[in-house]
Amino acid sequence: MNIVKGFNGAIGNTPLIKLSTLSELSQCNILVKAEFMNPGGSVKDRAAFSLIQQAEKSGLLKPGGTVVEGTAGNTGIGLAHICNARGYKCVIVIPETQSQEKLDSLKLLGAEVIAVPAVPFKNPENYVHIAKKIADETKNAIWANQFDNTANRDAHFNTTGPEIWQQTDGAINGFICATGTGGTLAGIGRYLKQQNPDTCIALADPTGSVLAQWVLNGELKLTGDGSITEGIGNGRVTANLQGTEIDTAVTIDDQITVDMVYHLLNHEGLLVGASSGLNVAAAVWLAGQLGPGNTIVTLLTDHGSRYQSRLFNPEWLATKNLIIPAKASFFKLD
Ligand code: PMP
Repeated sequence: MNIVKGFNGAIGNTPLIKLSTLSELSQCNILVKAEFMNPGGSVKDRAAFSLIQQAEKSGLLKPGGTVVEGTAGNTGIGLAHICNARGYKCVIVIPETQSQEKLDSLKLLGAEVIAVPAVPFKNPENYVHIAKKIADETKNAIWANQFDNTANRDAHFNTTGPEIWQQTDGAINGFICATGTGGTLAGIGRYLKQQNPDTCIALADPTGSVLAQWVLNGELKLTGDGSITEGIGNGRVTANLQGTEIDTAVTIDDQITVDMVYHLLNHEGLLVGASSGLNVAAAVWLAGQLGPGNTIVTLLTDHGSRYQSRLFNPEWLATKNLIIPAKASFFKLD
């Protein structure tokens, strides 16, 4: 018998897929962990479960309590599933710039959804601060605080990192992914460095973020304007990211991300969101840095259906000056 217990029992142990076209193109093994196969549909199920489990263990979250969080959507979706399964109420504060599909999923799951204008972190009206305030003012409520609560990073140190190590039999040369809270990169990076300090850990960044420059030069300096990606890039270094050894970084612009999303769709049969496209483009870049014969791992963080009205809508893409590549065209990274 091979039976898991409940929603949280189904989180993790996702497949590691070799991308044939891109492995051939780069002369490396390009491997992607299919995190969209988690039961809530994204990599953030792992963090959501860890945040709730830690709050239960510490006694802060009591039966019938409320979980409040500020999120770009995926952590909220994971939290809403787990709250339903464990009898908690769920309140999600989300910037109104996020996709309608994510808002609809949160409502479908019964979370109370508060969409607020997207303003910088230093503004007290930023979604993260509003979430904290609501938790402070609500009886028997916790603020999950995914950005600075390192229970987020622990989820990946304890599960995603070891899974990657076992699935590759330790034969991994580089790991790269984009970061929002930093939990995924920091947790996996720390675990892989502990197993083998020679593993290259790299950060992939969208435009409109300071993190690539922070890794490369130690400066909190923006690269480019904004990005159509959701849930990644940051203007600050979170507690989850702090103190993590990161060897290198790259900024991937939106057209390259879109090109890769469509390459994955048309030539690998995978329908994923923009952060996954950016991750895989960055993995091909890292393959170029490390040279032929290396094994590079990244994540497919969530499914394309979460962005049907944007990333898969030519009119919407045109408003961002982005074009859909021809179906037959193969990804190129010059
Ligand atoms: N990709 C997507 C689609 C996400 O929603 C998130 C989380 N915001 C990330 C990547 C980044 O993960 P992390 O928060 O662990 O850095």
